[in-house]
Amino acid sequence: MVLNRVGIIGGGQLAWMLRDAATKLNIQLVVQSPNQNDPAISIANQVIVAPIADSFATKNMSQICDVITFENEFIDLPKLQNLESNGVKFYPRLNSLSPLLDKFDQRCFFQNINLPIPRFSLLENETDLHHDLGYPVVLKARRHGYDGYGTFIINNKQELTEIWHRYNSPSMLLEEFVPYQQELAIMAARNIQGEVICYPVVQTIQKDQVCRQVFVPAQIPDSLVKNVEAIAYTLLSKLEYVGVVGIELFLTEDNRVLVNEIAPRTHNSGHYTLDLCDISQFEMQLRAVTGLNLPEIKFKSSDAAMVNLLGYETSNSDYQEKRAQINAISNTYLHWYNKTESRKGRKLGHVTILGNSRQELEQKAAKIEAIWYQ
Ligand code: ADP
Repeated sequence: MVLNRVGIIGGGQLAWMLRDAATKLNIQLVVQSPNQNDPAISIANQVIVAPIADSFATKNMSQICDVITFENEFIDLPKLQNLESNGVKFYPRLNSLSPLLDKFDQRCFFQNINLPIPRFSLLENETDLHHDLGYPVVLKARRHGYDGYGTFIINNKQELTEIWHRYNSPSMLLEEFVPYQQELAIMAARNIQGEVICYPVVQTIQKDQVCRQVFVPAQIPDSLVKNVEAIAYTLLSKLEYVGVVGIELFLTEDNRVLVNEIAPRTHNSGHYTLDLCDISQFEMQLRAVTGLNLPEIKFKSSDAAMVNLLGYETSNSDYQEKRAQINAISNTYLHWYNKTESRKGRKLGHVTILGNSRQELEQKAAKIEAIWYQ
């Protein structure tokens, strides 16, 4: 049975980018989002204006949907569990999500299924400040962090004490700083029938803990690609997951792959799929959660890059002139999320560049950043 009325909890750009896939698959989208100005409001067939964690609104949404899925993880899981036990269909199932919503729980889950991860501990009291993870060390909020908000790279105990007190959270995750040679990511999907498909392993480039650029494919040996794919397969199978995930990893200086985190949804590192692939991560998400098969992916060129357009000021500008300059570069595809306000670090849009050489893509990515941030 095809489930063709899909509810989405969250109305940001990740929900907005479902538009073309929904049209192609003849799927009706209902969006639950807190703000009338959120990007996905304009593409929804029906809208429930309500906070993400408002389970009463989700209950209402369930009455007009065959299945509900997620575009962010800031949900109230126990309340949704009540709905699920009363017959509301969520894909991914809530049992698959429950080990993933909290960064500490994720780490414990990865450890239990023997995936390679950085060493970690909990910071809950003064005694925990005497950790054995060395310095620098990474301090992370357990929930509600994104785009580097809630992640701190810390150089000494004094700084750790200060930031921990300032953040004022009773429990935070501490983990060893990994001096990686590259950061990698992979998008993967599993459908209701249990089929799994992986997109290519990509290299992601972060600045101040926020993704700036993605290069496809990552320039790593085949054995490492297989290693990353095996991690994706293990994660999706162990979770009996239905939907798309983004998995972020570190490639260490001695060529080991460590899992950083898994995002239980479509992901920034997979935006290139809109332009490079015949089936984007957004279509794959809708296919997975509605009972369709996951076809083999075809590519329009051998390589691609993605550049995020991040806010660098507070403004209401729609940056038409900069967008026109970027659009004038050959083989680029600009996706503008139509947000009404720009703030520092906010994701306002992204650009995909298709090509056949890494060098050419790096040059064009640098040119796009020069236009955007000048
Ligand atoms: P978020 O969920 O906000 O994206 P992440 O845990 O992915 O937070 O961290 C953001 C970025 O911070 C990573 O992409 C990486 O560049 C850096 N980072 C996070 N954890 C570590 C670590 N243990 N060692 C080194 N760098 C890290």
